[in-house]
Amino acid sequence: MKRISILGSTGSIGTQTLDVVAMHPDQFEVDGLAAGSNIALLLEQVHRFKPRRISVSTRALAEEIRPSLPAGVELYSGSEGMVEIAAGGDAAIVVTAVVGSVGLESTLAAIDAGRHIGLANKETLVTAGHLVTERAERRGVRLLPVDSEHSAIFQCLNGERHQDIASITVTASGGSFRDYTREQLVNVTVEDALRHPNWSMGAKITIDSATMVNKGLEVIEAHYLFGLPYEQINVLLHPESIIHSFVEFRDSSVIAQLGTPDMRVPIQYALTYPERWQSPAERLSLAKVGRLNFREMDYVRYPALKLAIDSGKAGGTAPTAFNAANEIAVARFLRREIPFLQIDEIIAEVLQRHNNTANPDLEQIQHCDALTRKLATSL
Ligand code: NDP
Ligand code: MG
Repeated sequence: MKRISILGSTGSIGTQTLDVVAMHPDQFEVDGLAAGSNIALLLEQVHRFKPRRISVSTRALAEEIRPSLPAGVELYSGSEGMVEIAAGGDAAIVVTAVVGSVGLESTLAAIDAGRHIGLANKETLVTAGHLVTERAERRGVRLLPVDSEHSAIFQCLNGERHQDIASITVTASGGSFRDYTREQLVNVTVEDALRHPNWSMGAKITIDSATMVNKGLEVIEAHYLFGLPYEQINVLLHPESIIHSFVEFRDSSVIAQLGTPDMRVPIQYALTYPERWQSPAERLSLAKVGRLNFREMDYVRYPALKLAIDSGKAGGTAPTAFNAANEIAVARFLRREIPFLQIDEIIAEVLQRHNNTANPDLEQIQHCDALTRKLATSL
């Protein structure tokens, strides 16, 4: 029996993680679930998966759900509640599936408690990558990628020596607006942006895919997960999302990981590594797919991708500022306060005004995150 806990169990990754658990009821047990405000779904999950402990985002929500809980389930709330689900109990692995840098504190707590991490919450690694990776290394904790591209690279690197890597290439579908010019983006709506061609995901990451910020976050994520300089990390447009990413080695061999786009595959691999178990994901038929397409990434069309990579290269608090500016800009776009193209503009403006702090500690990161959010809200 493998005991797991999920931070963000009611979201896209959270529910798909529970799908994986449900497919292997004799192998997995759920220790803790943390949700935001969807208490109806959380209650269903409680009855079905019988966790010992749960958490919701506010005390008021906790009081609302309390009368419906089966006896013996421990109930927590707020950010301390999420830390309790991450670090209390006895899970062997914690899947981090909340959105945004709000997941940082609980991810660090899970690492300090010696839990392996199934890492979906990429913003945590962008905002404080050096702290997260250092602590994981010190504590002997694995950061197992859930993101499909990083799972692909992780799989391609199985048994390989780090010094044999020439480069890694993260593939990008191009998001909802991949066939639009920048001029055509002026009047796009929230509904247009939320229509991703290949993946069904939470709202924030779907917008991040449309701006290509998601790929920028993933480049920074790859830098920290695989310990590679930015010069060895490439991005390639691949509209079909069949090749999830690939690695080139110094002998010019290229190893890629392929599959139909289904997040349950990388989620399950993070939970079962180094084993592979049966999965309901549709088998890939290359004959049926027929052809795969690739295009050079266009950094003029997607300026936020360049800003992300530049902030990654600058290091210090620059990626923290990049991430916080984007989180606020996306939230404002989703509230229809700003047009789509202003997401890029807000990020650019924030980075221009940013005073970089090298090698920041946790307090400096949290300070930068808070200040940037204020600035990005005011722009
Ligand atoms: P969703 O928006 O679908 O889900 C977010 C989850 O976080 C929900 O369960 C939500 O709860 C919970 N949550 C939000 N705020 C809080 C809070 N304050 N306290 C506790 N829980 C909270 O996001 P996704 O599943 O799409 O994405 C999760 C992460 O995984 C992101 O970092 C994303 O970039 C990454 N990722 C996602 C992929 C995907 O296919 N979706 C692919 C690769 C990476 P509630 O709904 O109850 O309010
Ligand atoms: Mg991805």
